[in-house]
Amino acid sequence: MTTLIKGGQVLSTTGASLADVLVDGEKIIAVTAPGVFTEADEVIDATGKYVLPGGIDAHTHMEMPFGGTHSVDTFGTGTTAAAWGGTTTIIDFAVQAKGTSVLSTLDKWHEKADGNCAIDYGFHMIISDVNDTSLKEMEACIDGGVTSFKMFMAYPGVFYSTDGEILLAMQKARETGSTIMMHAENGIAIDQLAAQAYAAGRIEPVHHSLTRPPELEGEATSRAITLAKVTGSPLYIVHLSAAQALAAVAEARNEGQNVFAETCPQYLYLSIEDMAKPDFEGAKYVASPPLREKSHQTDLWKGLRTNDLSVVSTDHCPFCFKDQKELGRGDFRAIPNGMPGVEHRMDLLHQGVVAGEISLGRWVETCSTTPARMFGLYPQKGVIAPGSDADIVIYDPAARQTLSAETHHMNVDYSAYEGLEITGKVETVLSRGRVVVSPSGFSGSTTHGKFLSRGLNQYLI
Ligand SMILES: [Zn+2]
Repeated sequence: MTTLIKGGQVLSTTGASLADVLVDGEKIIAVTAPGVFTEADEVIDATGKYVLPGGIDAHTHMEMPFGGTHSVDTFGTGTTAAAWGGTTTIIDFAVQAKGTSVLSTLDKWHEKADGNCAIDYGFHMIISDVNDTSLKEMEACIDGGVTSFKMFMAYPGVFYSTDGEILLAMQKARETGSTIMMHAENGIAIDQLAAQAYAAGRIEPVHHSLTRPPELEGEATSRAITLAKVTGSPLYIVHLSAAQALAAVAEARNEGQNVFAETCPQYLYLSIEDMAKPDFEGAKYVASPPLREKSHQTDLWKGLRTNDLSVVSTDHCPFCFKDQKELGRGDFRAIPNGMPGVEHRMDLLHQGVVAGEISLGRWVETCSTTPARMFGLYPQKGVIAPGSDADIVIYDPAARQTLSAETHHMNVDYSAYEGLEITGKVETVLSRGRVVVSPSGFSGSTTHGKFLSRGLNQYLI
């Protein structure tokens, strides 16, 4: 089965060029000047459209247990929504709970995802119990294609690791060439501020943000960078939201340290003002780190241009407003932390292109090519080139759409971007050569997605 995508502007990290793309089976076999090939089993006319490598969302939480409930997208619904939005790979997090084994955790996550994904998927491993066994098990994870390990400086008593535990895991990362991903917020101090706010009767959602000040993200980011320097471990800061944290990352990168960071669309477009909405509406925006003052957004866009922020992921972790977010009425500390977003990352970052914040090349780079290289998937993923998987998005840059819970495909009862008008829209999506989204709708299947055994971070020398 061959497919010819003709007449489009093929995008890469260096921008756009008019080219045709020929797919045979699951792979791209040729990228040529327009008109070199004219026939194929299926011909898709992409005139006036962008043809770009499928998006890679390196930070999602499908069916994730949190605070006595679960994020509401299953691997099936979440990966289907991702495909609708032009994302053809997710990297989700397996979550080691304290007192359990890392490898049995990985088995459990394989069971959840296997045969239930519309697009290809990989895993990171969350290490929340550092001991001799789990450190040893990190090696087996790497052999099994799970080459990055997330740790938390937040959430004491749940996922939190001490500096000593982080140091041990970083030493193992250094030894194995794997990457430590860090949720960098000073959770010990935050919990005190949150307890004080609650005791003083400040119970509304906005206090989630006010008790997690950006300085405590900056401090934790600096501390993680220092520990990474001492151990020689590669470090990837997840969901960076604050100018203070970005400054710490930029400084480390200027010194040549293997420090990388991602941000998320919610930190580029939403702010603490959303969390202050009346009638508990602010709970829709409760995630950690929290939404910040708008002034941080300018720095984050700048960081995306300078590559101090190299990746945009979603931290997709949806909880319904009704029944789940409502658990925190009367105490903001009990609101499940997380927001939906896996479907809209490509669109929202395309808005950055429209607004002149980033170039077309940076759009592709931050949303596809860099995550592929960062997490050992390149060149199988993240590029339109002969030999690569035919994960391809045909994007209409002139189409208009309005984001809404009425029309989105995520299994959640609200949109964080309700009513937002977007320029640009996904038209057709191929996952390993198969058309899964087209103007006539979703034609994929939740048995199509395959597990991706990943290599090491390709930015390390
Ligand atoms: Zn997360």
